[in-house]
Amino acid sequence: MSQPETINYFGFCKRCGTGPLAARVCGGCERLWVICDECDATWPDPTCEGEPIALSDPDLPCPVCNASLIQPPSRWADLADLTRVGWRKNVMGQGTPFGVERDQTDEKE
Ligand SMILES: [Zn+2]
Ligand SMILES: [Zn+2]
Repeated sequence: MSQPETINYFGFCKRCGTGPLAARVCGGCERLWVICDECDATWPDPTCEGEPIALSDPDLPCPVCNASLIQPPSRWADLADLTRVGWRKNVMGQGTPFGVERDQTDEKE
C-alpha cells in the first residue's frame, strides 16, 4: 500500500454511472479488458458500446481464456499496453487503484 500504482481511466461506467473504468491486462492471453470499479461490468474496448459482458464470478474470468482478471499475473494496463492496442487516446485521467481510499471527488473542470 505504500507504493500505489497509477491506473489510467477511460471515464465513468455507463451502466452504474459512478464506477471508474480502467483496463486490465489478462494474465492468460494478454488481451485487454475495460472493467468498472464499482459494478464489475466489463467491455471489450473503451468505447463501451452496447451491453457490458456480464462476468458473474468474483474472479472475473477472462471471456477468452478463462484466467482471472483480478488475480495476478493479470494487472492494470499501463500506457505502453494502451498504446499497443490503440486505446491511449481514450484515456481521460489517471488515479490510484481500487481499495485506496478516495472520499473526495476530483471534480476539476
Ligand atoms: Zn459500473
Ligand atoms: Zn485471457
